[in-house]
Amino acid sequence: MADTTYDFDLFTIGAGSGGVRASRIAGGYGAKVGIAEEHRYGGTCVIRGCVPKKMLVNASMFAEELSHAHHKGWTLKDNSFDWATLRDFVNGDVDRLEGLYGQTLGGAGVESFSERATITGPHTVRLASGREVTAKYILVATGGEPVVPAFEGSEHSITSNEIFYLDEFPKRLMVMGGGYIALEFAGIFNALGADVTLVNRSDTILRTYEQEIVKRLPPVMEARGIDLQLGAQIEKVEKAEDGSLNVTLTNGTTKQVDQILVATGRRPRVEGLGLEHAGIELGAKGEIPVDKFSKTSCDSIYAVGDVTDRVQLTPVAIREGHALADSLFGGNERYVDHSCIATAVFSQPSIASVGMTEEEAREAHGEINIYKSDFRPMKNIFSDRAERGLYKMITDAATDKVVGLHMIGPESAEIIQAAAVAIKAGLTKADFDATTAIHPTMAEELVLLK
Ligand code: NDP
Repeated sequence: MADTTYDFDLFTIGAGSGGVRASRIAGGYGAKVGIAEEHRYGGTCVIRGCVPKKMLVNASMFAEELSHAHHKGWTLKDNSFDWATLRDFVNGDVDRLEGLYGQTLGGAGVESFSERATITGPHTVRLASGREVTAKYILVATGGEPVVPAFEGSEHSITSNEIFYLDEFPKRLMVMGGGYIALEFAGIFNALGADVTLVNRSDTILRTYEQEIVKRLPPVMEARGIDLQLGAQIEKVEKAEDGSLNVTLTNGTTKQVDQILVATGRRPRVEGLGLEHAGIELGAKGEIPVDKFSKTSCDSIYAVGDVTDRVQLTPVAIREGHALADSLFGGNERYVDHSCIATAVFSQPSIASVGMTEEEAREAHGEINIYKSDFRPMKNIFSDRAERGLYKMITDAATDKVVGLHMIGPESAEIIQAAAVAIKAGLTKADFDATTAIHPTMAEELVLLK
C-alpha cells in the first residue's frame, strides 16, 4: 500500500474526533499515517467540550436530586459541595481518555507528532521542530475555537476553554449567549449553587431549534433561580480590586460577578495554517470549503469536522473522518449524509431534536400534521417544581411520514436517539402508534401522541 514517493500516505493536522478517526482507520487499512497535534490528543470534545461538560451535567443533576431527597425519605446532614474535588475528578478522567486516544493511534501504527504543523504546499507539511514531511494526502482537522465579541473589558471574561480549570467555584457567574454552551453551563453552575445570570442579545434562545419546545425553557430556568437578561448585551466590564467583575449591560442593569463565560459561537481554527500555499481560499464564515467527499479545492488536501463548518458536532466529524479513510484507503468511496441528524442540548431540563422544525416542515411539505404530548414526568413529582415535558411530532400529511420530532424534558437526549433511528428510516406516525408503550416511562409518550 505505502507509496514511497512520500513520507506518508496521509498526514493529519489535528488529533480531535475527526482527525483521530480518519488516521486510525487509514492506519488500519495499512496506510502510512502521521498526525500532528499541538495541544492535547482528543480535541475539543474530549479535552474541553462534550465529555467533561457531560460529567459536570451529571454532577449538577445530582445536586438537583439532593435538593428534594427529603421527599424520598432521606435526611441529609452536613452535605456540602467542593468544586476542586469535582473539577479534579473530571479532569482526571479527561487525562485517562487522552491516554486512550494516544494508545489507539499507536495501535493503528500512526506516528504522532506532539507539535504544531502547517501546510507548505499541496503535499508538504512543516512541523514546529523545523522538519518538513511529505504526504500523498493531507487532512486538516483543526476544529474550531470560541469567538469573543468586542466589548469593553472582554479580556476579563473566559470561554469554555477555561471553565473546566477554574481555581475557585464562581459563586456569581454571568453567561453570555443563548446557544448550546451558554444554556448548558448556566444549568450546570446554577444547579451546583452559583448565582447565575444569562445575558442574550435577543429574546430568542436556541434559534435553530423548534421554538414551541424552546419557549418552555426560560420560565423553568427562572423558576430554578437563573436571572435571564434577554435582549441585552454586555456593555462593559470593570475589574474591582478584590477581583470581582462589575458588569454593565446595555439595558442599564449592573451586576457584580466572579466570572463571565462568553459562549457566543465558535469559528473554524485556520489561523496560520498555510492554506494559501496550496491555493485554498476560505469561505464566508472562515471555513475550509469542501465537496461532499471532504475534498478541498486542492486535490491532495481534505478537511473534516468543525473546520469545515458543516455541522459542528463530534459524531459528524467522526463520520466524516471515517468516510474519508474508507474512500482513500479502504476501496469504499463514500460520503456522509448530513440530513436528519439528531441533536441535544444538555440544559436542565434537556432539549432534543431530530428532523425539521414546524416552520421548515411547512416550507418543505406544505400540509403537515402536528401531534403533541404535554405531561408531568413522574420523576418531577418528587421535586416541588411544576415542570412539564413537551414532545412534538411533525408528519408530512400526504404520506404520514414523521419528518420532525422535538422534545423538552428529563433524558430527552437518551430518548430521541432511539426515535431518530425510526425517523431516519422513514417510518410513519402509524408505525409509532403500532408500537406498544412501556408503562410508566417518559418515552411511551412517543407512541401515544395525539
Ligand atoms: P451557538 O451557535 O449554539 O450559539 C451562539 C449564541 O451566541 C447565540 O445565542 C447567538 O445569538 C449568540 N451570539 C452570536 N454572536 C453574538 C454576538 N456577537 N454578541 C452576542 N451574542 C452573540 O454557539 P455555542 O458557542 O453555544 O456553541 C458552538 C457550537 O458548538 C454549537 O453550534 C454546537 O454545534 C456545538 N456544541 C454542541 C453541543 C451539543 O451537541 N450538546 C454542546 C456545546 C456545543 P443569535 O441567536 O442571536 O445569533
